[in-house]
Amino acid sequence: MTREPRPFRHQAFIDGAFVAADNGATFAVRDPATGAVLAEVPDLGAAETRRAIEAAERALPGWRGKLAKERAQILRRLHDLLLADQERLAQIITAEQGKPIAEARGEIAYAAAYFDWFAEEGRRVYGDVIPQQAREKRILVFKQAIGVTAAITPWNFPSAMIARKAGAALAAGCTMVVKPAELTPLSAIAMAEIAQRAGVPDGVLNVVTTNDPASVGAELTSNPTVRKISFTGSTEVGKILLRQAAENVQKCSMELGGNAPFIVFADADLDLAVKGALATKYRNSGQTCVCANRFLVQKDVAEAFGAKLAEAASRLKVGRGVEPGVVIGPLIEEAAVEKVERLVADARARGAKVLTGGGRHALGGNFYAPTVLFDTRPDMQIFAEEIFGPVAAITTFEDEAEALRLANSTHYGLAAYFYSRDIARVFRVAEQLEFGMVGVNESLMSSEAAPFGGVKQSGMGREGSKYGIESYLEIKYVCLGNM
Ligand code: ADP
Repeated sequence: MTREPRPFRHQAFIDGAFVAADNGATFAVRDPATGAVLAEVPDLGAAETRRAIEAAERALPGWRGKLAKERAQILRRLHDLLLADQERLAQIITAEQGKPIAEARGEIAYAAAYFDWFAEEGRRVYGDVIPQQAREKRILVFKQAIGVTAAITPWNFPSAMIARKAGAALAAGCTMVVKPAELTPLSAIAMAEIAQRAGVPDGVLNVVTTNDPASVGAELTSNPTVRKISFTGSTEVGKILLRQAAENVQKCSMELGGNAPFIVFADADLDLAVKGALATKYRNSGQTCVCANRFLVQKDVAEAFGAKLAEAASRLKVGRGVEPGVVIGPLIEEAAVEKVERLVADARARGAKVLTGGGRHALGGNFYAPTVLFDTRPDMQIFAEEIFGPVAAITTFEDEAEALRLANSTHYGLAAYFYSRDIARVFRVAEQLEFGMVGVNESLMSSEAAPFGGVKQSGMGREGSKYGIESYLEIKYVCLGNM
């Protein structure tokens, strides 16, 4: 009897080989919609991580030594293969992460776009010839690949967050060890397999799966061969990694948490604002770092906005991501549901009103009902913490100055959104928001061509765009003398 081949691999990937843990240990990857075990994946530790770093070091001279054009051809092939396999890869994302299949397909297209973009950017890494300051000297600037790099990625975009880092790193001539989130390693393994098919040489891209992120993270930050770490995840873990990386003065890119304000001024197009609110709040069930976290709505329009949003939110179809028409999948795990429950309970206890939802969904498990809360205030936990769930919390304000004060009253500074039709206000507010990314009458702004990143405790560095490749390059000043 022939058995159906599994639609995905479930081994770690080091030096071009699919491998198990030295001690054979594995951990289970589950479907957050059902709790079913999808696969057992190798639980690697520091020793295997060291081997992955050594493989990346061995692969470096060959990869860095290629012409940018040659690397670009391979990355372009990787882009093409990801798109050719889009449906299967989307199914893997939905299975291990839970997001609706349409969003998963979108994530694969978005991931592929980074390889395409950086294939181009890699060919345009220009140095400088600086006008001479002394007759017998010449000043040259080279830009060179940093070397071996590491990436630690989160579960909310299991493919795209790897592509955003690996696309830039590989285009620049760096090699990489990726440690995916333990909740979603299957997409990372699939990415490695496709990279290999695209012609990425052995050791250039390695995937270390583990259920013990602290020990693998410690190796990635303490091993002197690793010159740079790029992390996307919580501010809390980002701070741990920054402390660890300090020991080796390892370069760091950090994409950390957010607490995005979504400001609706009385002069806004209210229907457009509701449409934008739905898109940013409920995408991925509210589990993105750029999801609107605090809705700040001017008093005169607050009730109308709340009513429209609640009405629209109550019609969002909740269910397994593979089911037709579903737009709200499960939260990633029980702990995430408990956190949302805690935030909503605190807000209600302090006087917030529930316009729709307000608790777990009838489907049970990790499903939480799309929720809109009204009259939330800055002293509530929900105002200060990242919700990471399908809960919109509406706070009212009187005037522009108060809106800005409330919006900026956070340690985070990733994304902010506001809706207004007054062009002077658009400039004023965009300039004064202390965030790395600002959407004006727009709530979906991620693009491989735009710089993604935050200020304050939301991180450092930018990914994507012409700036993204810079963080994988070193500047070398070469002085020619006695000419
Ligand atoms: P989230 O709250 O979104 O789960 P985390 O910051 O906990 O975000 O996780 C993001 C990534 O960081 C995951 O790959 C996770 O395994 C990893 N991680 C968690 N703790 C550590 C740690 N101490 N050292 C290194 N990586 C870690």
